[in-house]
Amino acid sequence: MFETLLLNFLFMLFPVLIFLIFFENRPHAYNRKILVLLTAITMILCIAKPIRLESGFIFDLRYVPFIITALYGGYKHVLPLYLILNVYRFYVGGEGVVQSLLFSTAVLVLVPALSKRFLRSKPRGRMIWATGLVILTMGCYLIVLSLILGKLDIQYWMLVVNALTIHAVVMAVLMILLEQILLNLRNRERMMQSERLNVVSELAASVSHEMRNPLTVTSGFLQLLNQSKGLTPEEKSYIELSLLELSRAEKIISDYLSFAKPQSENRVYSNLQAECEYTKNVILPYATIHKVAVEFSFNNSLFTHYDRNQMQQCLINLYKNAIEAMKETQDAVLSIAITESEQNILITIRDNGIGMTKEELSRLGKPYYSTKEEGTGLGMLMAYNAVHKVGGHIRVQSEKGKGTTFRIIIPT
Ligand code: ADP
Ligand code: MG
Repeated sequence: MFETLLLNFLFMLFPVLIFLIFFENRPHAYNRKILVLLTAITMILCIAKPIRLESGFIFDLRYVPFIITALYGGYKHVLPLYLILNVYRFYVGGEGVVQSLLFSTAVLVLVPALSKRFLRSKPRGRMIWATGLVILTMGCYLIVLSLILGKLDIQYWMLVVNALTIHAVVMAVLMILLEQILLNLRNRERMMQSERLNVVSELAASVSHEMRNPLTVTSGFLQLLNQSKGLTPEEKSYIELSLLELSRAEKIISDYLSFAKPQSENRVYSNLQAECEYTKNVILPYATIHKVAVEFSFNNSLFTHYDRNQMQQCLINLYKNAIEAMKETQDAVLSIAITESEQNILITIRDNGIGMTKEELSRLGKPYYSTKEEGTGLGMLMAYNAVHKVGGHIRVQSEKGKGTTFRIIIPT
């Protein structure tokens, strides 16, 4: 029995391993299909090599991968598993086919409904959820089985205890592995992001400073030229166009410079109130032009160290993005709230604009990623950089067509 148990555990590890080795770096949508396929193979192997107890009872671990997929993937991903499971079960035949069909249908209907709550909880909570669920599911199954078999002797109870322990242990170990893998992926993503920031800020430091002087000189002389009499209207319009383009270049560079600026000179210890007032005043005219109403609330008594300029720039970038996302929105509202919660300063910036898809969300904050014609794709990068520097992080929730919420969490 111990050998089959190990074998079954190996089946469980199989999709995890294959996935980690071969498919980890591919795009997401494709990944999910591969994972479902690998899990299906695991289930088939589980059914093919069930665990035989000494008492003669047989059971298998097929519901472990089934429940994991249901919890992480929801209905969409578990449905193919359900189909494969039952087709294979019919193919194997023997007694209990109908029971298996009914039971898996019940699991299919009930478990994915918990998926949203499951995904919202913390890693440890998820482990407890999954283990609890597999015990509950198998418990129900065994109770039903006992009613059908109609015998409740000591041997049956041994089976119950054995089956439940094995399920719980296998599930708990798998969940620990899975959560660790997810954590590693997330950490790697975070490291790559900070690496990107480093590259960009080094480049920025060397380039932007050198560029600023020639730009200022050129734009100064062009302005002088513009005042000279005897220019034809056409020539004047050329000069004005050049000036406009120069100021655009200037803007891009100032976006760059904010990466490179040393932190020490503007560092303050404060509660963000001054920055909020300032940025609010800066953004209000812009909001009015775009017919966006701004709701604002400040309720924070926590202090922290930060760079005044960078924090202002970061907030302005986020406000601007929010307003730009609501260009086509009726009753556009930008709501900004600065609050405190459990020793963290919490800045919430919510808009009801165009929103983003999952794919767009995952690209947010990468250098030069922009969906706007005039965009630089540096605003978010700068915002992430500024928040990163004060030891905080940004959470983004977005739904296409509904709007976006940015939450900046800064520990104090
Ligand atoms: P830019 O604003 O110059 O395009 P950003 O780095 O500020 O560059 O933003 C990158 C992209 O992220 C934007 O082009 C836009 O597609 C998306 N984005 C950022 N904020 C929002 C938002 N509040 N709602 C919808 N999309 C957003
Ligand atoms: Mg922007």
